[in-house]
Amino acid sequence: MASKRATVTCPDCGLEETFTKLGTARSCIEDHRTETGHEATWELHQLDAGVERAGDDAGVCGRPGCTNENSPLVQDGR
Ligand SMILES: [Zn+2]
Repeated sequence: MASKRATVTCPDCGLEETFTKLGTARSCIEDHRTETGHEATWELHQLDAGVERAGDDAGVCGRPGCTNENSPLVQDGR
């Protein structure tokens, strides 16, 4: 799971491929667009970790001094 960085999917034809390198995934999207005219999209698994971390940060009690000072969520709220 950790080695999979991005999943390319195409709603037009059901394409679904998993890539370990973002550059390869991007090339796949561009090639697919060139070959078929489809607009494939990619899901970056890299972001999943960030979302999970944000969830963890939001899960702390929320009192000043008890929040994660490094959390983007905390900084955005001020
Ligand atoms: Zn397609």
